[in-house]
Amino acid sequence: LYEEENATQLMHEQFSKETIHFLQQVGELADELDTNAYMIGGIVRDLFLRRPNEDIDIAVEGKADIFAEKAAERFKGTVQFHESFGTAQLVLPNGDKIDVTSSRTEYYLKPAALPTVERSNVQEDLARRDFTINAMAIQLNSGDFGRLIDAYNGKNDLTNKVLRTLHNLSFVEDPTRILRAVRFETRLGYKMDKDTENFARQRPTSIQSLSKDRVWSEFQHFLQEVAPGEMFARLEELDVLDAFMPGASFKPPVVTALFQRVRSNNLNVDEKMNTLIQLLALFTESRSSFEKSLLWMRSNPERTLVQQIISLYDTTWIKDVAYGALHDAFSHVQNMSLWFTSRWFEAADESEKAYVLYTYFEKKQSMPELINGDDLRKFGLSPGPQYKEIIHKVEKAWFDALLTTRDEALSFAQGQVEAYMKQLND
Ligand code: ATP
Repeated sequence: LYEEENATQLMHEQFSKETIHFLQQVGELADELDTNAYMIGGIVRDLFLRRPNEDIDIAVEGKADIFAEKAAERFKGTVQFHESFGTAQLVLPNGDKIDVTSSRTEYYLKPAALPTVERSNVQEDLARRDFTINAMAIQLNSGDFGRLIDAYNGKNDLTNKVLRTLHNLSFVEDPTRILRAVRFETRLGYKMDKDTENFARQRPTSIQSLSKDRVWSEFQHFLQEVAPGEMFARLEELDVLDAFMPGASFKPPVVTALFQRVRSNNLNVDEKMNTLIQLLALFTESRSSFEKSLLWMRSNPERTLVQQIISLYDTTWIKDVAYGALHDAFSHVQNMSLWFTSRWFEAADESEKAYVLYTYFEKKQSMPELINGDDLRKFGLSPGPQYKEIIHKVEKAWFDALLTTRDEALSFAQGQVEAYMKQLND
C-alpha cells in the first residue's frame, strides 16, 4: 500500500488557471456520470518534475467514447474516435487536444503484437504501463480532486532518478520500451535500475517481431530529443542497437558530427526525410543493410534519396577531376543528396572528397540561368532530345569556366545548334 497524497497544491503551482478549471470540470462531469476520472501517465510524471507538458491524458472508468462525447458537449469542442483502441480525442475550441481512454487492461496476444483491449479499472490501467514513473494517476472527481494514485512507488523513483519496469517480462511483452527507457534516461538524466538494465541486455527475441514502423517511429522520437547521439551510444553499449536495426552501429565522431550538421542546417526536407538521412549515419560501414532495411517503405522519394546518397558515397572518385566531368556524372542528382553526401564524407574524415563534392554542390546552386528551350527554338532547332543535350553541354562548359555569362552561353549554344544542323544536313 502507498501513502495517500494530494497533489492539488502542486497542480495550482504548475498549471494555468484555465487548465485547473478544465480538470475540475472533467471531475464534475465524472461525478455526474457516476464514474471516476483521472489524469494519467506522462503529465503526472512531468507535474512532479515541474517540467512543462501540454499533453493531458485522461482515463475514465467506463466508456471513453461516451465520456468524450459528453465532454465535447460541455466544452463546446469536438471529438474523434479511435475505435480499435477504445480511445477518443477531445478537441477543445482553442485547439487543445485531450486524449481520453477507458482505463483498461491490455492482453498481449503474442509478444510485440498490438494489444487487444478490455475495459477495467485504473489500477489495471496503471499495471500495463512501461515504467513506475509513468504509472501514476491523479483523480479528478470533486470529492477526491488531486488524489495521487501511485501503486508502484513511481514518486520515489522520480526522486532517485530511476527507470524501473513494473514486472520482469515488460521488455519481452513490448521491446519498444527498451527504446523508451533509453530516451527517458537521456532526456531526464536517469538510469535504469539494475534488473531493468539486465532485462534490456538480454535482447528479447520479440524485438524481431516488431513492425518496422514501430521501430521507426521510436527512432523518430529519438531524433526529436536534444541528444540523440547519446541514446544511440547507450543502445550500442547495451548491445541492442543492431537488434533493432540490423547493421547499425554507433561510431561516435561520424554520427555525432552528422547529427549536428543536419540539425544546424535548416534543411528544406520533411521530418521523415530528415530522420532518414540522420539514421543513415549509423550505417556508414554497412550501407547496403540500410538500403535493405528501407524496403518496407512504400514511398519512393525517400528510397530514391537514400539510394542516391549511398551510390554517391560509393562512387570511385578520380583525383583532380574537373567540375564539368562531375556535372556529366551527377547532373541528375538532387541537391539534397549532394549536400548530405559531402557532409557525410566530412564526418567520416574524407575531407578531399567532401571538398570536391561540396564545391560542386555550391557551384550548382549558384549557376545562373544560362539558356532555356525558348532560346534554342529561336535558333531554329525543333524540339527533341537535343534540347536536353545542348543545355547540358552549356552547363558543363560553365562548370569548366569556358563561359560565364548568359550572352556567352547563348553564342556557345548557337554554335552547338549550328553544328548539330550541319551534321543533320551532311
Ligand atoms: P513524451 O514526454 O515523450 O511524450 P510520454 O510518456 O509523456 O512521453 P507518450 O509516449 O504519449 O508520452 O505516452 C503516454 C503514457 O502512455 C506514458 O506515460 C506511459 O504511461 C504510457 N505508454 C506509452 N508507451 C508505452 C508502452 N510502450 N508500454 C507501456 N506504456 C506506455
